[in-house]
Amino acid sequence: MSDNVKSGVDFIRERINKDNETGKYNKQVVTRFPPEPNGYLHIGHAKSICINFGIAREYNGRCHLRFDDTNPEKEEIEYIESIKKDVRWLGFDWGKHLYYASDYFQQIHDFAVNLIKAGKAYVCHLTPEQMREYRGTLTEPGKNSPYRNRSVEENLSLFEQMKNGELDEGACVLRAKIDMASPNITMRDPAIYRIKKAEHHRTGSTWCIYPMYDFTHCISDALEGITHSLCTLEFEINRPLYDWVLEQIGYPHRPQQIEFARLNLNYTVMSKRKLLRLVTEKYVHGWDDPRMPTLSGLRRRGYTPESIRTFAERIGISKVNSTIDYAFLEYCLREDLNMRAPRVMAVLKPLKVVIDNYPDDTVEWMPAINNPEDESAGEREIPFSNVLYIEQEDFSLNPPPKYHRLSPGKEIRLKHAYYITCTSVVQDESTGKITEVHCTYDPASKGGWTDDKRTVRGTSHWVSAAHAKKAEIRLYDSLFTNENPDDDSEGKTFIDYLNPNSLEALSGCLVEPGLEKAKPGDFFQFLRQGYFCMDPDSTSENLVFNRTVTLKDTWAKLQKKNG
Ligand code: ATP
Ligand code: MG
Repeated sequence: MSDNVKSGVDFIRERINKDNETGKYNKQVVTRFPPEPNGYLHIGHAKSICINFGIAREYNGRCHLRFDDTNPEKEEIEYIESIKKDVRWLGFDWGKHLYYASDYFQQIHDFAVNLIKAGKAYVCHLTPEQMREYRGTLTEPGKNSPYRNRSVEENLSLFEQMKNGELDEGACVLRAKIDMASPNITMRDPAIYRIKKAEHHRTGSTWCIYPMYDFTHCISDALEGITHSLCTLEFEINRPLYDWVLEQIGYPHRPQQIEFARLNLNYTVMSKRKLLRLVTEKYVHGWDDPRMPTLSGLRRRGYTPESIRTFAERIGISKVNSTIDYAFLEYCLREDLNMRAPRVMAVLKPLKVVIDNYPDDTVEWMPAINNPEDESAGEREIPFSNVLYIEQEDFSLNPPPKYHRLSPGKEIRLKHAYYITCTSVVQDESTGKITEVHCTYDPASKGGWTDDKRTVRGTSHWVSAAHAKKAEIRLYDSLFTNENPDDDSEGKTFIDYLNPNSLEALSGCLVEPGLEKAKPGDFFQFLRQGYFCMDPDSTSENLVFNRTVTLKDTWAKLQKKNG
C-alpha cells in the first residue's frame, strides 16, 4: 500500500486540493475515463474507473465516459455496450456525459490546419523505416526530415489531398514540428495524422485521415473542460507533448495531466491483446468466462462491485509500479460475502445415508439460520427425512487417526438436524465402492445438540434425498500456473502457462430445495465449501453454480508468513 494513502491524502487529491485553493479551475473537478473500445474492461480498468469516478464524486464534480475511438479498424459496438454495462455495474454513472473522440474529428482537423498555418506542422513522406532512422535514439538526437521545411501552402495542399483520399495509405503523415534533438523522443516531430481508408463505426466513410492518440486525447480533454486528466505512468513521457499541443492550438482551457501506477495482479494477464487471444483461440469460453480478469468474467464468477471498489480503494494510488497479490482481491471479496451471503447446504460429491430408525413417511422442517453475521437475514426451514446425502469425503471406512467425520461406530452432528451414528455400510460387490451408509439418529439431539452436552467433534452438511435439487457446480483454479504469465524469458509465452486444471465441472451435485428460486447472479455460502453464485447457464432442470472463492483465507496466511 502506498505511503500517501496511510497519511490520508494521495498526490492526486493533494493536487486537486491545491488547485481548489488557488481557484485554478473555479473549484471544479471534471475527470474522464477514456477506454479504447477494442476489448472488454478488466480489473485494471476498474482501478482507473474507481479513481476517476470516485474522485469526481468526492469533489462534487463529474466524470465523463469517453470512448477513445480514433482507430477505425479495431473498434466494435459490442465493446462499447459491454464497457457501459461494466461501468454501471461497478456503481458509477456518467449522466449525460457520454462522449466519443470521433465526435471531435472536425475540430481536431481544424486545429491541425491551424498548426500548419502557424508553421508548426508538416506533411512528411519518409517511409516508416526512414522515420525510425531519423528519429534517433535515447542517447542520440534525431535528424530533421527533408520534408520539414515545406512551405505552409504546400503543406496545406498536401493535407487537403490526404483528407480527400487522393493519397495512398502510408504515403505520408502529418507531423508536429517540435524538436528533433529533444531528449524526450516523444517530442521529436511526432505524427499527428495518418491516412486510413477504413470505415469508422460512427463516422462511416466521412474521413480517410485519422488523428493519432497524442493529438486527440489532449484536445478531447480540453474541449470537454476536463480539469484533471488522470492516466497511468507510461504516459508521463507524453505529458510535454500533451501540453505542447494545447499551448500551440491556443485553446483557453488547459487540463492538468496526472499519472498514477497501473494495477498489476499476479497469476493474471491484463493486456487486451492477450485477453483477446484467450477468447478467439478458445482457451476460455468467452470474455465473461469466470476465469477471466475481465469485469464481466469477475461478475459471472460472483465478484460483487462492492468488493472490487473496496479493493481499488485499499490498494491506493501510487507513483511506483508494483504487483498486487491475487489473494488480496479474494480477501476483499470474502470479507464482503461473509457479511452478506446467505448460508445454505449443498453436497458436491454425494454419498447416500439411510437413517434406519427414522420413520420413512416423515419429513421434519428444521429451522436453519441464514447468516450468523447478519441477524436480519432471518431463518429458513430445511427438510429432513430418512434418506439423505452427505459429502463423500465426510465418510471413511478406515479412518486415519484424529478423523472426526463419519466412520463405522462414530457419531457426528448433521448441521441444523440430529446426531447420527454409523452402524453399517453397503458396498458394491465388484468395485468395493461404498454405495450407502446406514446410521441411527438420536431423537434427543434435535437441532444439533443434546442436554447431556456430550462431545461430538464432526459436523456435516447434508441434503434430503427426496427434496434436494440437482445441480452442476463449477470449481475454478487460477487460469495460469505462473505467478507472472507475462514472463516471456525462456522462449515461453503466457499460453504456455495456462493451467490445464483451471475448471472442474461437477455434475450430479445436490443442493437444498430453496435454491430452486435463486436467480443468476445470486450469491451464497455453501457451508464448508466456499462462496458460490448462480450462473446464467442455470435452468430449472439443471441449476448451475460457480464457486466464486473458497473459504480459506490465503491472504491472511500470506500476511502471517511474511510477519
Ligand atoms: P491495452 O494496453 O491492453 O490496450 P489500455 O491501457 O490501452 O490497454 P484503454 O482502453 O486505453 O486500455 O484504457 C482506458 C483507461 O484505463 C486508460 O486511462 C488506462 O490508463 C487505464 N488502465 C488500463 N489498464 C490499467 C491498469 N492495469 N491499471 C490502471 N489503469 C489502467
Ligand atoms: Mg490505450
